[in-house]
Amino acid sequence: MNFKTHVIGGISAGVLANEFLIHHIPVSNQETSYLFMGTIFIAGSVIGSLIPDIDHRGSYLGRRAKLLSVPIHLLVGHRGITHTPLMLMAIVSLLLFVSKTFLSGTDSLVFSYMTLGIGTGIASHIFLDSLTKGGVPLLYPFSSKKISLLPLKTGSFSEKIVALVMSIGTIWFVLEKHWLL
Ligand SMILES: [Zn+2]
Repeated sequence: MNFKTHVIGGISAGVLANEFLIHHIPVSNQETSYLFMGTIFIAGSVIGSLIPDIDHRGSYLGRRAKLLSVPIHLLVGHRGITHTPLMLMAIVSLLLFVSKTFLSGTDSLVFSYMTLGIGTGIASHIFLDSLTKGGVPLLYPFSSKKISLLPLKTGSFSEKIVALVMSIGTIWFVLEKHWLL
């Protein structure tokens, strides 16, 4: 899947996940609000949706961070470990550890919530790439086999349909949740 589809996927997954998670965190003090925390979460999920393609030097992030993308690509190839649930868990655990260890109070809450957004974005990226012919190694490290759930082609008309459905679905979801009812 290409950059635009992943960003749309990140926003869609972020909006959905935020809707369910936001009510479980304490945002009643003056420094945080539902709108602020929701924005932080969705920003995190957009960032997360771009992270797995750091293994591709032609990708949006890869072009901007060649010092990282070139060695990562040489080491693991494209759609290797950066496209696995294992990497998702590792990044989220590391960031939550940083949050708990080095931050406190509101800072820790905001950073942890953004981390969950980043995790959501990475998950959306892995899921979307699993819908393509090439697939992703979902079961790594137990198996390196790339699993493909649908035979979509990157850059094809069907990818555009997926992006359109996600866009319309997300807009409908937001309108229905917050304005229409
Ligand atoms: Zn990818």
